[in-house]
Amino acid sequence: KARKRFGQNFLHDQGIIRQIIRSISPREDQHMVEIGPGLGALTEELLAEAKALDAIELDRDLIPILRTKFFNYEERFRIFETDALKFDFNELCTDGRPLRVVGNLPYNISTPLIFHLLSQSGLIQDMHFMLQKEVVDRLAAEPGTSDYGRLGIMTQYFCKVEPLFVVPPGAFNPAPKVDSAIVRLTPYKELPHPAISERMLQDVLRTAFSMRRKTLRNNLRTLLDADALTALEIDPGLRPERLTLAEFVRISDYLSSNTSEHHGTE
Ligand code: SAM
Repeated sequence: KARKRFGQNFLHDQGIIRQIIRSISPREDQHMVEIGPGLGALTEELLAEAKALDAIELDRDLIPILRTKFFNYEERFRIFETDALKFDFNELCTDGRPLRVVGNLPYNISTPLIFHLLSQSGLIQDMHFMLQKEVVDRLAAEPGTSDYGRLGIMTQYFCKVEPLFVVPPGAFNPAPKVDSAIVRLTPYKELPHPAISERMLQDVLRTAFSMRRKTLRNNLRTLLDADALTALEIDPGLRPERLTLAEFVRISDYLSSNTSEHHGTE
């Protein structure tokens, strides 16, 4: 029986499962990681293709089911009974191969989990996630739209974002209330905007978007004044959702080099 507490919606639509696996195209020489394997709907197909699969599952009642189901893959299948939110993905990097991360994610933790994975994106070749469609819209959002905000900007700082396809509620058991979608996130090998610290960008975004309908001048006044924004060629009268990633990076770079408060926070 699916447990709500763990955000369990198990995939049962074979057509959708095949479509997901085709998008991922796991290869024999690759190291796959599955977050939340559940009853193994995707696991089975991944194991058929990839050389090594590590699964991270928090619900301890599912572990014996997975072990029984996949007992004959023992050598290339490891199960970690733990919370993916707290997991150090370095632990998996024992073969020198970059990780290909996959997951039909529990929706209640998808945003913090994406932030957690972004902080370890250097280990990762790519990620394919099933998320609420609304979250995929936010990940891919462009400036000037209502979906555009902290989650999308942080993700786009680290990764190329490709929404792939929509998955209707009927593909799951139990059926969720909303549409889902598959997204591919590919971390950049070299960040397009490498100068700033991630922490500073996080601070700037949190502050800039604290009140979406207010201007930058207002939201950012604790960090820098309107004249400084103008000097950075950014109109202080704009709402935060109008700014590009490059402009947020410019503000963060300026603050990194000009404020002492933030020194030492990494
Ligand atoms: N992959 C399966 C499928 O597609 O049918 C299950 C997907 S279900 C939406 C999410 C899975 O993530 C569940 O198996 C749940 O127990 C697991 N899970 C929930 N929270 C987790 C966490 N913090 N760390 C690891 N796994 C978690």
